[in-house]
Amino acid sequence: MIEKTVAQLSGSLNRGDISSVELTQAYLDRINRYNSTLNAFVTVCEETALTQAAQADAARADGRTSPLLGIPLAHKDIFCTSGIKTSCGSKMLHNFIAPYDATVVSRLSDAGAVMLGKTNMDEFAMGSSNETSYFGPVKNPWDTDRVPGGSSGGSAAAIAADLCAMATGTDTGGSIRQPAAFCGITGLKPSYGRISRWGMIAFASSLDQAGPICKSAEDAALMLNAMAGLDTKDSTCADVSVEDYTANLTNSVQGLRIGIPRQHFAEGLSPEVEQAVREALGVYEKLGAQLIDIDLPNNHLSVSAYYVVAPAEASANLSRFDGVRYGYRCDNPVDLEDMYKRSRSEGFGDEVKRRIMVGTYALSAGFYDAYYRKAQKIRRLIKQDFNAAFQQVDIIIGPTSPHTAFNLGAKTDPVAMYLEDIYTIAVNLAGLPGMSVPVGLANGLPIGMHLVASDFAESRLLNVAHQFQLNTDWHRLRATGFTEGR
Ligand code: GLN
Repeated sequence: MIEKTVAQLSGSLNRGDISSVELTQAYLDRINRYNSTLNAFVTVCEETALTQAAQADAARADGRTSPLLGIPLAHKDIFCTSGIKTSCGSKMLHNFIAPYDATVVSRLSDAGAVMLGKTNMDEFAMGSSNETSYFGPVKNPWDTDRVPGGSSGGSAAAIAADLCAMATGTDTGGSIRQPAAFCGITGLKPSYGRISRWGMIAFASSLDQAGPICKSAEDAALMLNAMAGLDTKDSTCADVSVEDYTANLTNSVQGLRIGIPRQHFAEGLSPEVEQAVREALGVYEKLGAQLIDIDLPNNHLSVSAYYVVAPAEASANLSRFDGVRYGYRCDNPVDLEDMYKRSRSEGFGDEVKRRIMVGTYALSAGFYDAYYRKAQKIRRLIKQDFNAAFQQVDIIIGPTSPHTAFNLGAKTDPVAMYLEDIYTIAVNLAGLPGMSVPVGLANGLPIGMHLVASDFAESRLLNVAHQFQLNTDWHRLRATGFTEGR
């Protein structure tokens, strides 16, 4: 049962094959058994989960049905949860208990989802491997010597090992899509503004976006239906009407124009990943889609521009963590300045400090024009590249990552880690929706395909991903091991 998709579980709950309490207990048992190996959860809410599950069962018995009612879910620990610790993977917030729920959390709970717990992540969502977490690295269920990807690695590993039915993540430069690729599951980063950021701890406010991490495009559509929409508490949340994202899933892709960016099939791409993505493109061709080579000429500037914009915004956002208002405060400060300095030096990890320093430097009066303004100009060029491409094609497809999951500890150079997002980061700079779906295995490790649509075209993105999943079985493969209760 626990390996089923949300759509399937919803049917099982409606038919009475299983209750939400039984299903919730089954996932809790697996978390208890396997979390010590995977380190995917930082908090497990056993009691509240069983209470919510009982409420969902009662609501169903009263005749209420909705697709997420009674479905067990995990939230990335970046989303504030009332009364339950929200650590953001940091010592700075290791004891922080928010007094309110993030909009994403309240919307999913209003839809009837049951919260199993909070998942591990890179500290303040900075990273591509989940190794920067204060709570230790997450392990990839496909090979526990390898990283799950980051920063939403806890959510991705939890889905891949069937420790929950669905999960949330956030994506600032690739943090939903890259871990989805490394863990062989489905992840969607919606358009900027599609989902409220209220109560989601800010990293880089002009890039951050929440999204679903799950087992299929259909499940991503069901989750997006609950998560999307205007929220007056977030002024950057878009006033664009929410569609029923399941409505177009079954549309044919006959005549669909798929853009293949030359720059995403160039040097640096591993041959196995290239082959798997090209075979997936062949599936679309058989279904009547047309493949068109396109250019994204400024893609090579995206990582550099991102590593000015994102740290600049992070340095401003993280200034609130001063030992006074939230979280960690150093012991026995001698005066106010000592308290600020030591609380921040002791509370933040190395990668976070590196970003704060880079960001502060890029925003300083003498360097603002040389770095920040320049990066914003590049951002505009990148957006224009996509606009031009979408004149020619309906969707853009390439690899999510140049390779499969790497070994824990393998990347010690920060710049090598930054290059992990070479195919995903431009999508955040342009504010577009992007998605990763599994398309194969290389040496037993999953490979992800990256799909990008134009602004607010999530419906099309999900349709194109779903059509692939209707015609292939890659999304059904699960990591071996972790068999107890399966
Ligand atoms: N890997 C990128 C970074 O470290 C993106 C992270 C993210 O999307 N949150 O900033």
